[in-house]
Amino acid sequence: MLKVVIYPHPALRYESVPVTRVDDDLRSVVREMFELMYESNGIGLAANQVGLPFRFFVLNTTADPERADQERVFINPEIVKRQRSIEDEEGCLSFPGLYSKVRRAGKIRVRAFDLEGNTIELDADDLLGRAIQHEADHLSGRLFIDHLEPARRVSAETKIREIEAAFRKAQREGEYESDETIARRLDEIAANGTIPADLAGRVSQE
Ligand code: ZN
Repeated sequence: MLKVVIYPHPALRYESVPVTRVDDDLRSVVREMFELMYESNGIGLAANQVGLPFRFFVLNTTADPERADQERVFINPEIVKRQRSIEDEEGCLSFPGLYSKVRRAGKIRVRAFDLEGNTIELDADDLLGRAIQHEADHLSGRLFIDHLEPARRVSAETKIREIEAAFRKAQREGEYESDETIARRLDEIAANGTIPADLAGRVSQE
């Protein structure tokens, strides 16, 4: 079972490793990530956010499950070109209730693989370009709060502390393992290079 983890879960600061195999486990996790994303009204979700240390993310800028034609999967993405710079509002499913203006490139070119293993090269601007930059950041353990200008970071601080307190409380209540255990498991999964059977939905959990 996957779930969206909140800040400061260690997976969110993890430098994820490339995907080496596009298989049924990956396809099943991708499907589940889209469902989780729609449940939370999000437009994008990175593997880090469900505790998986691999470089891929899913996007649907319509946030509408009826618009499956707008679903995109980016595997091992690389932003190869950035142009202009624009400020706009962002949020993140790992920071419930926090929104702030973030400066990013206004236009980008991204290269990645899709779920069929084909290379995609895409020029993107507006919301799609912004979402791709936000999600690609996740794969390197970078978060949108890292991009906030000092004054905005200060005004975001109270909300960040609240989210952090909620994570620590859930951790004390056993919903999350300790930071050390999570970090060890992330290292193991990354070194092994495959999605664990339980997370791929191949083993039913109590
Ligand atoms: Zn995010």
